[in-house]
Amino acid sequence: MAAGTVHYSGIDPPAPAREDGGEPYDVAIVGAGVVGCALAYRLSQYRVRVAVVERNYDVGEGTSKANSAIIHTGFDASPGSLEAQLVTSAARLWPELSERLRVPFRAVSALVLALDDEQDARLERLAEKALANGVGDVRILSHPEVREREPNVAAAVRRALLVPREAIVDPFAVSIAFAEVALANGVDFRFGAALVAVERPEAAVKTLVTSDGGRVRARFLVNAAGLGSRRVADLYGGAPFAIHPRRGQFLVFDKHARPLLGSILLPVPSEKTKGKLLAPTIFGNLLAGPTAEDLPPEQETNTATTVEGLAEVRGAALAFCPALADRQPIAAYAGLRCNCLQGSYHIVVNDTHRGFVTVTGVRSTGLSASPALADHIVERLHGACGLALAAAPGAVAGRDEDAWPGWWRRPWEAPGAVDAEPDYGRVVCSCENVTRGEIADALRSPLRPQTLDALKRRTRVLTGRCQGFHCAIEVAGAIADHAGVRLERVSKNGPGSEIVASRRR
Ligand SMILES: Cc1cc2nc3c(=O)[nH]c(=O)nc-3n(C[C@H](O)[C@H](O)[C@H](O)COP(=O)(O)OP(=O)(O)OC[C@H]3O[C@@H](n4cnc5c(N)ncnc54)[C@H](O)[C@@H]3O)c2cc1C
Repeated sequence: MAAGTVHYSGIDPPAPAREDGGEPYDVAIVGAGVVGCALAYRLSQYRVRVAVVERNYDVGEGTSKANSAIIHTGFDASPGSLEAQLVTSAARLWPELSERLRVPFRAVSALVLALDDEQDARLERLAEKALANGVGDVRILSHPEVREREPNVAAAVRRALLVPREAIVDPFAVSIAFAEVALANGVDFRFGAALVAVERPEAAVKTLVTSDGGRVRARFLVNAAGLGSRRVADLYGGAPFAIHPRRGQFLVFDKHARPLLGSILLPVPSEKTKGKLLAPTIFGNLLAGPTAEDLPPEQETNTATTVEGLAEVRGAALAFCPALADRQPIAAYAGLRCNCLQGSYHIVVNDTHRGFVTVTGVRSTGLSASPALADHIVERLHGACGLALAAAPGAVAGRDEDAWPGWWRRPWEAPGAVDAEPDYGRVVCSCENVTRGEIADALRSPLRPQTLDALKRRTRVLTGRCQGFHCAIEVAGAIADHAGVRLERVSKNGPGSEIVASRRR
């Protein structure tokens, strides 16, 4: 089976305009977030031609890069909802799927902490909800049991609901792995290619026009554009829905905070939000947040952090774990939930015209639900839209052993590795101990990462205590050397975000 192609508009030479005359794609997916990538992965198991168009310069550059990185069990979802169905069924897939995709994943369990009488009174109902969702392994722990498991939890804790299968994951590797497998199975990816027009939406074969002048012909279009899904739906006259971004701010604590906690600490959830958690990250930090701030629709890119928001996050984290007071945060970020006024997991099949599928409102659990959501969309494409599906002979379903991120399975720990490849002995990022050899491995990986941010998400460079102060230029140099371009061409996240203005000779 031939691998697909990857094109970075404005970085690679212009793509050949072959689609207009040739066979159309069966499915074009707009948006390479975790939903679009999971769908590409699932579709790539069938004999269908698939293209993914993405306005950014890597997979997972939208909401999928800025979340709490938890694989939820769905214990607190509304029973009977599509979200509950997808999250709970995906939770059963993740342990095996993460291994097959070589995605770091660890079921560390969660404790839903009741810190006052009112919250304590809601724990039984929450346990019943978990049972109604088929999450049968939850258990209410007494105060001493909680403190025995987590000695650094606030002494004020009354009781807690233990949810054993809640897990932490490398959220970046999820989208990357889905996309790499899809690519290996023949899916084509175009980055820096925002969808700006759809010609002849009523026709059996539609033409997608992208911001770089590209044209993609396809029979079916899946709008997985997240916060951009309304604008994309407007291009084909999609049915009414409205997105109001809900911002979530986070603080990342330095690794010396990690030993304070073993499990994810969750508040008793409200109708509006899951609330602010405190969780270990798979990378060895502690993560606190997020806030839940409703922004007007036009602020779909407002990922600014604020003093008030971060103070709120820190306050909530200290209420769970007072010992955090003397541990330093090393980074702050914000993500935007795709909050759809028409409801979560708002999916419209044959939206206005036959062949358009709108997937929006994947608000708070899309990372967890992604494999089951992809199956659900494939079924709808097949059943309601008539997409013919036959298994693709020779399609792969996972990644090779060497695809584990270097920070998770250190290549230099293997006997003789440094002798065989001296660059595994040359540390570039001394905060996260990332070597030149690991950077080179990532640069050679199938999606050919082009930017500092893409490399950061694959290797952990620029994510440590110094946040890239010491190594950013050396990492940029590695990208420039690998691509054979001048340092001035290397960018943070695509053309227009170059990090060096000019070099002094
Ligand atoms: C604060 C916060 C915490 C969260 N915590 C969790 C958690 O712990 N666990 C969990 O399971 N989920 C969590 N989520 C939810 C999860 O992150 C999302 O549900 C998921 O990332 C949505 O993925 P997506 O692919 O739909 O959207 P996105 O990742 O936003 O992808 C959409 C893509 O479409 C592209 N696009 C937009 N317009 C166009 C266009 N015109 N042309 C081409 N491309 C376009 C965008 O660039 C983007 O890459 C959280 C979310 C937030 C904000």
